[in-house]
Amino acid sequence: MRLAEYDGKALLRRHGLAVPRGVLLRAGEDPPGAAADWPRLFLKAQVLEGGRGKSGLVRRSQNTSEFREMRRLILATLDDADTPLLLEEAVPIAREIFVAVRVDGTRQRLELLFAPEGGENVEQSKKLARVPIEVGAPGIIEEIFRNAAKLFPRELAARLARYAARLPEIARQEDLQLLEINPLALTKDGRLVACDAKVVRDAAADFRHDPEDFALSRMLAERAMTALERTARDLGFQLVETDGDVVLVTSGAGLAMLMMDLLADHGLRAASFMDNLQDAPDETMNERLKVARMLAARPNIKAIVFQTVIASRSLADRIDALAAWITAEQLPKPLFVGLAAGHAATRTMTAEAAIGKLHALGIPAFTDPVALVRATAQAVGVPGRR
Ligand code: GDP
Ligand code: MN
Repeated sequence: MRLAEYDGKALLRRHGLAVPRGVLLRAGEDPPGAAADWPRLFLKAQVLEGGRGKSGLVRRSQNTSEFREMRRLILATLDDADTPLLLEEAVPIAREIFVAVRVDGTRQRLELLFAPEGGENVEQSKKLARVPIEVGAPGIIEEIFRNAAKLFPRELAARLARYAARLPEIARQEDLQLLEINPLALTKDGRLVACDAKVVRDAAADFRHDPEDFALSRMLAERAMTALERTARDLGFQLVETDGDVVLVTSGAGLAMLMMDLLADHGLRAASFMDNLQDAPDETMNERLKVARMLAARPNIKAIVFQTVIASRSLADRIDALAAWITAEQLPKPLFVGLAAGHAATRTMTAEAAIGKLHALGIPAFTDPVALVRATAQAVGVPGRR
């Protein structure tokens, strides 16, 4: 779950880290009287995407009299008058720093990242320090300091090390996959203030946290969903619509990503990404097919690719359900099927028999996903690449 900046900063504040004074303004709300005393202001769109500074969604002004104009500019850029805004006191920044802690998925541990230039151009910074972290291990501050001292003056490195050493602990307590502070401001009077926060919490840990928390982020995520994505969620699986020409029906994020890459390698783009939902029914193939049919009816879609991997459940049942779906009503676009089956799945139907059954229905079917994608590319007129 990605948190909006406002919620991310609330989380930091709860853990005792400094953030600028600020107030959340809902659609149409004006600044509170107290903001009139803030010497300079930032007005920031609360959206779940980054790069707001560069797209004109973060604006500064000298005082609240410019507020209405700033708001107008931001909302016009978004073309959405209902987006909540964060009005903040502008912190006088002497230096912008990038600091983040994230789960290193490959090594299965936390890792701290530092860059000496924060702000909007951090991607260009070539000096990124990566420090593996073992939460609770002795000497953690010294280890961070050794790395930070290569990038920052010694005194700042020492302060940063003490600051940064708290982040992995927060990430662990809050079940965060990512906690990124960019910029972390070194103020002109020597304080460290988090001017932005990008926080991603592991959805698998939701049950450990207050479901009422972070209402703003939940509302924004809900609003960002398409109608069909909501339909899919209500049917028990996750759909992300992507800009593409092939409806991809899979289960599990790993298989979906593999297939998206394979399609891209052959000059095609997936129009859908499907994944399982937490606490959802364990079989949602019929629901996925139902949504696939709706997506496939769109004029920009050229084909449907269905790929399944099955080992414990019955291949015969799955093929029967697929055949029923194919014959129920004419498909809006040609269908291509891939199946990888083994072990208990093939007890009553072999993969070869399944392919034969699909061929009898006029559906091209393959046991090799590369052959599947190649055939799809050829059929829709993209010259297949090797
Ligand atoms: P992002 O572009 O979505 O990451 O939005 P940010 O919240 O990081 O804002 C964009 C830029 O505005 C930052 O990189 C800073 O350079 C600047 N900025 C944001 N908040 C403050 C602030 O309180 N004081 C100052 N001086 N600059 C700020
Ligand atoms: Mn930022």
